[in-house]
Amino acid sequence: MAKAKKSADHHIPELNRLANAELAKRSLRVSFVYLPVTIIVALITDLHKYAPYQTLAYLVLFLVVGFLRTRHAHRFDSIHDQNPGRWLKQFSILVMIPVLALGAVFPLVFFQSGAGWDLIICLLSLCGISAGATSSMSARIGILRAFQLGILGPAIPTLIIFGEGRVQALSLLIIIYLAQVLILGRYFHKEFWSGLRAQHQLKLRAKSLEEASAKAELAVKAKGDFLANMSHEIRTPMNGIIGLTRLVLESDLDEQQRDFMEDVKSSGDTLLTIINEILDFSKIEAGGLELESAPFSLQNVLEKAIHPLRISADSRGNELILEYDDNIPSLLNGDSHRIWQILTNLAGNSIKFTENGKITLSAEMMGHSGNLCSLMLKVDDTGIGIPEEAQASIFQSFSQADGSTTRKFGGTGLGLAISSKLVELMGGAITLTSVEGQGSTFAILLNLEAASDESKSTDKDTSKNHTISLDGLRVLLAEDNNVNAKLATRLLEKLNIKVAWVLDGALAVEAWQNNSYDLVLMDVQMPVMDGFDATVQIRQEEEGTGNHIPIIALTAHALEGYRELCLEKGMDDFLTKPINPRKMRETMALWAPEEYQQKIPQNGHHNNQQNNQPVPQSV
Ligand code: ADP
Repeated sequence: MAKAKKSADHHIPELNRLANAELAKRSLRVSFVYLPVTIIVALITDLHKYAPYQTLAYLVLFLVVGFLRTRHAHRFDSIHDQNPGRWLKQFSILVMIPVLALGAVFPLVFFQSGAGWDLIICLLSLCGISAGATSSMSARIGILRAFQLGILGPAIPTLIIFGEGRVQALSLLIIIYLAQVLILGRYFHKEFWSGLRAQHQLKLRAKSLEEASAKAELAVKAKGDFLANMSHEIRTPMNGIIGLTRLVLESDLDEQQRDFMEDVKSSGDTLLTIINEILDFSKIEAGGLELESAPFSLQNVLEKAIHPLRISADSRGNELILEYDDNIPSLLNGDSHRIWQILTNLAGNSIKFTENGKITLSAEMMGHSGNLCSLMLKVDDTGIGIPEEAQASIFQSFSQADGSTTRKFGGTGLGLAISSKLVELMGGAITLTSVEGQGSTFAILLNLEAASDESKSTDKDTSKNHTISLDGLRVLLAEDNNVNAKLATRLLEKLNIKVAWVLDGALAVEAWQNNSYDLVLMDVQMPVMDGFDATVQIRQEEEGTGNHIPIIALTAHALEGYRELCLEKGMDDFLTKPINPRKMRETMALWAPEEYQQKIPQNGHHNNQQNNQPVPQSV
């Protein structure tokens, strides 16, 4: 079995090459070793006196062979890759030539000067050389054996046949020594090949790991692409459902109709939350979630988180309290959206699991080191609490304290997993203390840098735009989806904005060339010409004219990096679907021409006639 494995190994070209390469490397180190040995032996014996020509011949031979072996080892790659067999044969010849010469040394000295000091010195040198070969030639047991036998072998018959008494007995010592080095050679040879096999296995494993990781990378990319597409596909109809429901809710409805529509809207909102949670979770899993860092007001973020939750808190008889420490700097650097998301999730859970109780959202300054503020954000409730045994795994994905709560309260079990990952990404820590039946407290410790007051707060800018009227703004809307176009048009018309709707990017460019608009709302995925190409073309044509029409991307893609892509293509801002009317208004106000920045909104809505036909029109 072992033999079969060994011979199989020897036939693996890769392993053979490695073995021969090692042979060449080690041979290079000892190519000229016989030269100094010969010189030293000649100096401490009388060899150079009674055999000067032979000594000189040996020196010349070892010099030439040393040179040839060096050259042969250096040319390993070129010779071996062409013909490995030839390389090994040449190597064997270059090794065996000095063996013949060295094997002749013992008889030569014995016959010239007898069994004296000179012979012992020569014998010692030959023994040393044969011992050294066990390491330098362990790759090839055949060559090694021939080498050792060739060097020491001739000494044995010489002593047995021509020696007498104690001299004859010396042959026994040489036989024992030779047997020892042969056994040692076999051992080294085995060790060498098992090392080589292990190295080869490691290489193969590394290669298969590399392949597996390349495959995994491809799979992650495919998953990312799938997510991007799914997100787009689901958000597009969701945009229609949520937006149009909102519009219907604003019209005259009887009580039952209103009730039904409220349910449609809340189901739509829930569905959207679930889609967003799954998307976020997948992004975090794939390591594709990057945090932003911009100045923001923590107080604003807390208010923004708590405000929409008031109605549901009230409906469950809960008191919702906000406690804010005034020592917290007015502006901090960080990802305000993600902090809002975490707080919304924690506070939403508290409301869900508390009835007729109290929910407190608080932010406290724990201390600071230079600019770095240590902050404690807490969401505390007097709800049902979390059983002790469930607390340890509560931050894991799909983990819910009680299976039955899934039915009673609903939820994906992803919210806390996402929140804790986000906190982790921010370099913070989230902890839970809870007593079943008494309530829970989620505490987040975050270290955030204080931002200087001169820096612009990202969340302040848009809030100012509530006071700006967009009355009469001329907007070009490029959108291929009928329902979404209808919805966007309606939302824009409610603001008394004049809308021209086109179905694709090419028509958008044409409409922009022939008419005058204040702003473009550009869908990205469109037939004929997409929003990116249309933007690039508009920006190219604008070059040198000094004009710049604000283009706001309007897309169902919500994946990380997409915003940057839109900006890269020359767009100015980015709105995701489902359209949030307030966000759309604020973003447009940010980019509206100067004259609109001064306008104050009129009371009441302007219900212009609906324009649902896609026609490029002058507005
Ligand atoms: P979801 O709420 O969508 O199920 P989460 O990850 O947000 O997922 O929460 C996981 C589980 O943790 C919940 O299902 C609930 O069992 C428990 N939980 C979270 N917050 C609270 C809380 N404030 N009070 C009681 N239980 C909670």
